[in-house]
Amino acid sequence: MPPSLKDAPASPNPPFPLTPDLAIIGGGIVGLWCARYAADLGLSTVLIEKGGIGQGASGGFLGALMPHQPIAWSPVKAFQLDALLSLETEIAQLQNQTGMSCGYLRCGRLIPTRTEKKRKQRETWQAAAIENWPARTAAGLALEWRLLEATPDPTWLLPGAAPLGCEFDTLSARLHPRKTIAALRRSLQQQVYLRENSLVERFEDGGRSLILDDGTRLSPGHVIVTAGHRSFDLLRPLSVRRLGRGVKGQAALLQPACQIDPSSPIIYFGGVYVIAHDSGRIAVGSTSESDFSSPDSTDHKLDDLISRATELCPALEGSRMVERWAAVRPNAIGRHPMIGRLPEAPHVIACTGGYKISFGIAHKMAGAALRLVGGSTPELPAGFTLEAHYACAD
Ligand SMILES: Cc1cc2nc3c(=O)[nH]c(=O)nc-3n(C[C@H](O)[C@H](O)[C@H](O)COP(=O)(O)OP(=O)(O)OC[C@H]3O[C@@H](n4cnc5c(N)ncnc54)[C@H](O)[C@@H]3O)c2cc1C
Repeated sequence: MPPSLKDAPASPNPPFPLTPDLAIIGGGIVGLWCARYAADLGLSTVLIEKGGIGQGASGGFLGALMPHQPIAWSPVKAFQLDALLSLETEIAQLQNQTGMSCGYLRCGRLIPTRTEKKRKQRETWQAAAIENWPARTAAGLALEWRLLEATPDPTWLLPGAAPLGCEFDTLSARLHPRKTIAALRRSLQQQVYLRENSLVERFEDGGRSLILDDGTRLSPGHVIVTAGHRSFDLLRPLSVRRLGRGVKGQAALLQPACQIDPSSPIIYFGGVYVIAHDSGRIAVGSTSESDFSSPDSTDHKLDDLISRATELCPALEGSRMVERWAAVRPNAIGRHPMIGRLPEAPHVIACTGGYKISFGIAHKMAGAALRLVGGSTPELPAGFTLEAHYACAD
């Protein structure tokens, strides 16, 4: 069990080693979980971040942790299920160690039923949840895919938005991304050297050396690339093929005019998410844009999204805009997360491509990457391996 940091004063980083056991490139959710587990293993670790920690795609405010549909069960779905279940314990430990809240709650998810076709299908999903999900979480909460004849709270999900009732899954949860990043960062103090405002420009010596933008050369024992959507450009000179792309998303944080229940379930319909947070604010997401010229600006697409969200959730009527936000998600070429050693540079480990579900699975991605650092082979769905992604790139 790591020591408690609740009362520890903020302390300076330890000296910056040029030949650490491990260098992690990128201080987003994936890089921070990698750093936490590396510290647990006692590895001398540097984490290099080109801006500030958590200023990439992980710096938002949505934090939906939603399972895949339980039908057509697969190793990918099993990996995500295990991640969503184990995250609760990981977050509890992190909060306990740091004394900081991550805004985590297993709040469930409401999906309005709009068509007869979906109404028939939802029984299949319910049966699949019984078959493929455990009956309860470790904390004893029943895991179910319930079928409701009407919205459970008309002030949260509008009855007119769910004319044929709705589905409610009790597995979905939410956390607050910025709070989680802050807690992870705090948990690393004195254990990992965090080098912010420092860009890894390139690899040299077949991946054995990293060159930073101030000319510093590092020769780590292993490198884990968790640079989000920029991982693909960074890896390209080593991998020859481009292994993924960035997909922009826009989101909004709103202060409702009336008080809401912060434990309300996530509403999800047609790519629109509505998430209540502990602050009483409501997060609305997200667009998915493959073609974009401005990666971090918001536009009319976000306004459209908020309109669609307000048609679902009356609590958004008359709300005040707190923040508009956009960032670029990492989408690996095989569409699944990408975790593995580069065949051309075996001590370079790619750990990216969490796309829309990174917050729910990042700790498990990191655990797999650290097993590779330790010389063992993690159990991963075949689609996550470098071989699978390379096959898609051919
Ligand atoms: C609008 C929106 C809504 C979302 N909603 C959800 C959600 O509800 N639930 C969910 O699970 N996920 C969600 N996501 C997706 C999730 O945020 C991302 O998948 C996740 O943040 C990716 O984390 P990462 O650590 O891989 O990348 P990032 O968070 O992007 O971190 C990569 C870091 O690497 C740094 N970096 C890049 N290049 C270099 C370099 N050369 N040298 C040094 N540092 C470098 C960057 O500055 C960055 O900080 C959402 C994303 C968006 C945009």
